[in-house]
Amino acid sequence: MRNPIIGGNWKMNKGTPSEAIKMLKELIPLVEKMKSVDIVIAPPFTALFSTIQTVKNSNIMVGAQNMYYEEKGAFTGEVSPIFLNDLGCEYVILGHSERRDIFNESDDLINKKLKTALKSDLKPIVCIGEHLEEREAGRTKEVIENQFNLTFKDLKSEELSRVIIAYEPIWAIGTGKTATPEQAEEIHIFIRELITKIYGKNTAQTIRIQYGGSIKPTNAKEIFDKENIDGGLVGGASLQSKSLYEIIKAAEESIN
Ligand code: PEP
Repeated sequence: MRNPIIGGNWKMNKGTPSEAIKMLKELIPLVEKMKSVDIVIAPPFTALFSTIQTVKNSNIMVGAQNMYYEEKGAFTGEVSPIFLNDLGCEYVILGHSERRDIFNESDDLINKKLKTALKSDLKPIVCIGEHLEEREAGRTKEVIENQFNLTFKDLKSEELSRVIIAYEPIWAIGTGKTATPEQAEEIHIFIRELITKIYGKNTAQTIRIQYGGSIKPTNAKEIFDKENIDGGLVGGASLQSKSLYEIIKAAEESIN
Protein backbone atom coordinates (compact mmCIF):
# COMPACT_ATOMS: atom_id res chain seq x y z
CA MET A 1 0.00 0.00 0.00
CA ARG A 2 1.18 3.52 -0.77
CA ASN A 3 0.58 6.08 1.98
CA PRO A 4 -0.65 9.39 0.60
CA ILE A 5 1.72 12.32 0.78
CA ILE A 6 0.56 15.93 0.97
CA GLY A 7 3.08 18.64 0.16
CA GLY A 8 2.43 22.27 1.00
CA ASN A 9 4.37 24.39 -1.47
CA TRP A 10 4.34 27.88 -0.01
CA LYS A 11 6.17 29.31 -3.06
CA MET A 12 7.37 32.88 -2.31
CA ASN A 13 4.98 33.32 0.63
CA LYS A 14 5.38 33.09 4.40
CA GLY A 15 9.13 33.52 4.07
CA THR A 16 9.52 35.44 7.31
CA PRO A 17 10.11 33.17 10.31
CA SER A 18 7.25 34.79 12.26
CA GLU A 19 4.67 34.09 9.53
CA ALA A 20 5.88 30.52 9.09
CA ILE A 21 5.89 29.80 12.82
CA LYS A 22 2.40 31.25 13.28
CA MET A 23 0.94 29.04 10.55
CA LEU A 24 2.77 25.92 11.76
CA LYS A 25 1.65 26.42 15.36
CA GLU A 26 -1.94 26.41 14.11
CA LEU A 27 -1.37 23.36 11.88
CA ILE A 28 0.53 21.07 14.26
CA PRO A 29 -2.35 20.38 16.72
CA LEU A 30 -4.82 19.96 13.86
CA VAL A 31 -2.85 17.17 12.19
CA GLU A 32 -1.09 15.51 15.12
CA LYS A 33 -3.25 12.35 14.99
CA MET A 34 -3.00 11.94 11.22
CA LYS A 35 -0.25 9.36 11.15
CA SER A 36 -1.13 7.61 7.89
CA VAL A 37 -0.52 10.64 5.69
CA ASP A 38 2.98 12.01 5.09
CA ILE A 39 2.91 15.78 5.49
CA VAL A 40 5.66 17.94 3.99
CA ILE A 41 5.83 21.72 4.22
CA ALA A 42 8.09 23.53 1.76
CA PRO A 43 8.62 27.14 2.87
CA PRO A 44 10.98 29.64 1.23
CA PHE A 45 14.67 29.15 2.14
CA THR A 46 14.53 32.06 4.60
CA ALA A 47 11.97 30.25 6.76
CA LEU A 48 13.49 26.75 6.49
CA PHE A 49 15.43 26.87 9.75
CA SER A 50 12.54 28.18 11.84
CA THR A 51 10.15 25.71 10.18
CA ILE A 52 12.44 22.79 11.01
CA GLN A 53 12.74 23.97 14.62
CA THR A 54 8.98 24.48 14.97
CA VAL A 55 7.90 21.08 13.59
CA LYS A 56 10.45 19.10 15.63
CA ASN A 57 8.59 16.34 17.53
CA SER A 58 5.54 16.67 15.29
CA ASN A 59 4.44 14.54 12.32
CA ILE A 60 5.25 17.33 9.85
CA MET A 61 8.33 17.04 7.65
CA VAL A 62 10.12 19.80 5.78
CA GLY A 63 11.17 20.28 2.18
CA ALA A 64 13.01 22.92 0.19
CA GLN A 65 11.49 24.33 -2.99
CA ASN A 66 14.67 24.05 -5.05
CA MET A 67 18.42 23.40 -4.86
CA TYR A 68 21.48 23.42 -7.11
CA TYR A 69 23.19 20.29 -8.43
CA GLU A 70 26.69 21.11 -7.23
CA GLU A 71 27.58 20.56 -3.59
CA LYS A 72 29.69 23.71 -3.12
CA GLY A 73 31.67 26.36 -4.97
CA ALA A 74 31.36 29.58 -6.92
CA PHE A 75 27.61 29.53 -7.62
CA THR A 76 26.41 32.83 -6.21
CA GLY A 77 22.84 32.72 -5.00
CA GLU A 78 22.47 28.94 -5.14
CA VAL A 79 21.78 26.48 -2.32
CA SER A 80 23.59 23.16 -1.97
CA PRO A 81 21.88 19.85 -1.12
CA ILE A 82 24.52 19.40 1.58
CA PHE A 83 23.32 22.58 3.32
CA LEU A 84 19.72 21.41 3.16
CA ASN A 85 20.54 18.01 4.52
CA ASP A 86 22.60 19.42 7.36
CA LEU A 87 19.79 21.80 8.29
CA GLY A 88 17.43 18.83 8.77
CA CYS A 89 15.51 19.26 5.56
CA GLU A 90 14.27 15.87 4.32
CA TYR A 91 12.59 16.66 0.99
CA VAL A 92 13.25 18.89 -1.99
CA ILE A 93 10.86 19.90 -4.78
CA LEU A 94 12.54 19.74 -8.19
CA GLY A 95 11.33 20.79 -11.63
CA HIS A 96 8.28 22.74 -10.48
CA SER A 97 6.67 24.30 -13.55
CA GLU A 98 7.40 27.78 -12.18
CA ARG A 99 11.10 26.83 -12.13
CA ARG A 100 10.84 25.38 -15.63
CA ASP A 101 8.85 28.25 -17.17
CA ILE A 102 10.00 31.38 -15.31
CA PHE A 103 13.61 30.36 -14.65
CA ASN A 104 14.11 28.28 -17.81
CA GLU A 105 15.07 25.07 -16.03
CA SER A 106 15.50 22.27 -18.53
CA ASP A 107 14.87 18.54 -18.11
CA ASP A 108 18.63 18.07 -18.27
CA LEU A 109 19.24 20.50 -15.38
CA ILE A 110 16.50 18.86 -13.31
CA ASN A 111 18.05 15.44 -14.01
CA LYS A 112 21.38 16.70 -12.66
CA LYS A 113 19.70 18.17 -9.57
CA LEU A 114 17.79 14.94 -9.02
CA LYS A 115 20.96 12.83 -9.07
CA THR A 116 22.70 15.10 -6.56
CA ALA A 117 19.63 15.21 -4.31
CA LEU A 118 19.54 11.41 -4.20
CA LYS A 119 23.27 11.26 -3.49
CA SER A 120 22.69 13.66 -0.58
CA ASP A 121 19.86 11.53 0.85
CA LEU A 122 17.19 14.13 0.18
CA LYS A 123 13.80 12.81 -0.94
CA PRO A 124 12.97 14.53 -4.23
CA ILE A 125 9.43 15.51 -5.21
CA VAL A 126 9.78 15.83 -8.98
CA CYS A 127 7.13 17.71 -10.97
CA ILE A 128 6.09 16.95 -14.52
CA GLY A 129 3.12 18.26 -16.47
CA GLU A 130 1.86 19.66 -19.75
CA HIS A 131 0.88 23.18 -20.86
CA LEU A 132 -2.67 23.97 -21.95
CA GLU A 133 -1.75 24.20 -25.66
CA GLU A 134 -0.13 20.78 -25.46
CA ARG A 135 -3.24 19.26 -23.87
CA GLU A 136 -5.50 20.94 -26.40
CA ALA A 137 -3.34 19.62 -29.25
CA GLY A 138 -3.76 16.08 -27.87
CA ARG A 139 -0.06 15.90 -26.98
CA THR A 140 -0.31 15.37 -23.19
CA LYS A 141 1.04 11.80 -23.13
CA GLU A 142 3.82 12.58 -25.60
CA VAL A 143 4.94 15.56 -23.44
CA ILE A 144 4.77 13.54 -20.22
CA GLU A 145 6.73 10.66 -21.75
CA ASN A 146 9.42 12.99 -23.01
CA GLN A 147 9.74 14.77 -19.65
CA PHE A 148 9.77 11.43 -17.85
CA ASN A 149 12.54 10.00 -20.05
CA LEU A 150 14.77 13.08 -19.77
CA THR A 151 14.12 14.02 -16.14
CA PHE A 152 14.67 10.48 -14.82
CA LYS A 153 17.42 9.61 -17.33
CA ASP A 154 19.93 7.01 -16.09
CA LEU A 155 18.31 6.57 -12.69
CA LYS A 156 18.65 3.11 -11.17
CA SER A 157 15.53 1.38 -9.91
CA GLU A 158 16.63 1.84 -6.29
CA GLU A 159 17.07 5.57 -6.94
CA LEU A 160 13.72 6.02 -8.66
CA SER A 161 12.00 4.27 -5.77
CA ARG A 162 13.12 7.13 -3.49
CA VAL A 163 11.44 9.71 -5.73
CA ILE A 164 7.94 11.11 -5.38
CA ILE A 165 6.47 12.18 -8.71
CA ALA A 166 4.06 15.11 -8.82
CA TYR A 167 1.85 15.22 -11.91
CA GLU A 168 1.01 18.89 -12.23
CA PRO A 169 -0.84 19.95 -15.38
CA ILE A 170 0.51 23.48 -15.77
CA TRP A 171 -2.87 24.87 -16.84
CA ALA A 172 -4.24 23.88 -13.43
CA ILE A 173 -1.54 25.48 -11.26
CA GLY A 174 -2.68 28.61 -9.46
CA THR A 175 -5.47 29.07 -12.00
CA GLY A 176 -8.41 27.69 -10.03
CA LYS A 177 -8.89 25.13 -12.86
CA THR A 178 -8.49 21.59 -11.61
CA ALA A 179 -8.06 18.52 -13.76
CA THR A 180 -11.05 16.25 -13.30
CA PRO A 181 -10.27 13.19 -11.18
CA GLU A 182 -10.60 11.13 -14.38
CA GLN A 183 -8.16 13.34 -16.34
CA ALA A 184 -5.64 13.14 -13.50
CA GLU A 185 -6.08 9.38 -13.00
CA GLU A 186 -5.55 8.75 -16.73
CA ILE A 187 -2.13 10.43 -16.62
CA HIS A 188 -1.17 8.79 -13.31
CA ILE A 189 -1.89 5.39 -14.88
CA PHE A 190 0.16 6.43 -17.91
CA ILE A 191 3.11 7.44 -15.68
CA ARG A 192 2.94 4.06 -13.94
CA GLU A 193 3.05 2.41 -17.37
CA LEU A 194 6.17 4.42 -18.23
CA ILE A 195 7.79 3.31 -14.97
CA THR A 196 6.76 -0.31 -15.65
CA LYS A 197 8.41 -0.27 -19.09
CA ILE A 198 11.81 0.65 -17.68
CA TYR A 199 11.78 -0.50 -14.07
CA GLY A 200 9.12 -3.23 -13.92
CA LYS A 201 5.72 -3.55 -12.30
CA ASN A 202 6.89 -3.81 -8.68
CA THR A 203 8.70 -0.48 -8.79
CA ALA A 204 5.76 1.13 -10.62
CA GLN A 205 3.37 0.00 -7.91
CA THR A 206 5.46 1.36 -5.04
CA ILE A 207 6.20 4.85 -6.35
CA ARG A 208 3.94 7.59 -5.06
CA ILE A 209 2.47 9.92 -7.66
CA GLN A 210 0.85 13.07 -6.31
CA TYR A 211 -1.53 15.30 -8.21
CA GLY A 212 -1.01 19.07 -8.13
CA GLY A 213 -3.11 21.89 -9.55
CA SER A 214 -5.67 23.97 -7.63
CA ILE A 215 -6.43 21.33 -5.00
CA LYS A 216 -8.91 22.73 -2.46
CA PRO A 217 -10.84 21.26 0.46
CA THR A 218 -13.86 21.00 -1.84
CA ASN A 219 -12.23 18.89 -4.56
CA ALA A 220 -9.49 17.02 -2.67
CA LYS A 221 -11.42 13.90 -1.66
CA GLU A 222 -12.69 13.01 -5.16
CA ILE A 223 -9.15 13.38 -6.52
CA PHE A 224 -7.48 11.37 -3.74
CA ASP A 225 -10.10 8.64 -4.03
CA LYS A 226 -8.64 7.62 -7.40
CA GLU A 227 -6.58 4.46 -7.12
CA ASN A 228 -3.40 5.82 -8.70
CA ILE A 229 -3.36 9.24 -7.00
CA ASP A 230 -1.30 9.22 -3.82
CA GLY A 231 -2.06 12.62 -2.34
CA GLY A 232 -1.23 16.03 -3.67
CA LEU A 233 1.14 18.93 -4.00
CA VAL A 234 -0.79 21.99 -2.84
CA GLY A 235 0.10 25.62 -3.49
CA GLY A 236 -2.49 28.30 -2.70
CA ALA A 237 -4.59 26.18 -0.35
CA SER A 238 -1.54 25.26 1.75
CA LEU A 239 -1.20 28.83 3.00
CA GLN A 240 -4.07 28.60 5.50
CA SER A 241 -3.89 26.03 8.27
CA LYS A 242 -7.58 25.19 8.09
CA SER A 243 -7.68 24.52 4.35
CA LEU A 244 -4.47 22.51 4.45
CA TYR A 245 -5.81 20.49 7.38
CA GLU A 246 -9.00 19.72 5.43
CA ILE A 247 -6.98 18.55 2.44
CA ILE A 248 -4.85 16.31 4.67
CA LYS A 249 -8.05 14.95 6.24
CA ALA A 250 -9.37 14.16 2.73
CA ALA A 251 -6.15 12.24 2.00
CA GLU A 252 -6.57 10.26 5.21
CA GLU A 253 -10.19 9.49 4.42
CA SER A 254 -9.20 8.28 0.95
CA ILE A 255 -7.29 5.40 2.56
CA ASN A 256 -10.45 3.94 4.10
C1 PEP B 1 1.88 24.07 -6.89
O1 PEP B 1 2.45 25.11 -6.61
O2 PEP B 1 2.53 23.04 -7.04
C2 PEP B 1 0.42 24.08 -7.05
C3 PEP B 1 -0.18 22.98 -7.42
O3 PEP B 1 -0.22 25.29 -6.83
P1 PEP B 1 -1.81 25.51 -6.68
O4 PEP B 1 -2.32 24.48 -5.69
O5 PEP B 1 -1.96 26.90 -6.14
O6 PEP B 1 -2.42 25.32 -8.02
